[in-house]
Amino acid sequence: MYGDGSYSYAYSDGERMEEVRFCPEHGFYRGKECKCGKLGEVVLEAEKVEKVGRFMSGILRHFPDRFGLNVDENGWVNFESLVRVLKKKFKWVDKWVVKAIVMSDFRERYEIRGDKIRARYGHSIDIKLNDMPEADEEVLFYGTSEEEAQRIVEVGIKPVNRTFIHLTTSVEKSLEAAKQHSDNPVIFEVDAKTARRDGIKIVKANKFIALAREIPPKYIKRVQYSSYSP
Ligand SMILES: [Zn+2]
Repeated sequence: MYGDGSYSYAYSDGERMEEVRFCPEHGFYRGKECKCGKLGEVVLEAEKVEKVGRFMSGILRHFPDRFGLNVDENGWVNFESLVRVLKKKFKWVDKWVVKAIVMSDFRERYEIRGDKIRARYGHSIDIKLNDMPEADEEVLFYGTSEEEAQRIVEVGIKPVNRTFIHLTTSVEKSLEAAKQHSDNPVIFEVDAKTARRDGIKIVKANKFIALAREIPPKYIKRVQYSSYSP
């Protein structure tokens, strides 16, 4: 879709082109109107959000070493160092541009803590994410295509080009993800409670997404998603 090789899957979770605006009351947000109805000032045009966002997620998820950035086992990179790397490519980038993108991101792709930043999910680099909280949901969901569904029933859910598999906390989010790859998405329900009890580690990346190394077939059940939607 964005067609330039190495970045093409960095944005597979779908991006709407939207500017970042600032509301004096609610801070940075995406799109025209803030949730309060006010029209905030534009701090970053949509095109810039897309460019920096794509580059930044590529670095944090897939190739930090290509730019000499050290990443620790939980995916953290020094914030100032990342800003320096981004600035080399886009001269107008400063720490506020990066913060505005992170803080306005309703998908919660990134996390800033102290002097560090990381992507919350979508990695292909070898990391552990040991400091993320354990998911406490009883069930989680996974959306896929009919072709992949056949394989999942046999071998379980395993990552493809990624370090972790991405489970979602709602059927809606699974459908959203699966619809990017398939016109007839298939939804699996994961018995997260039993999987956890059996020692499978599932962490919560943000309020929509939970991550695991893999989920064996016995915890997975295909569901009719029509029964979940109104
Ligand atoms: Zn507002």
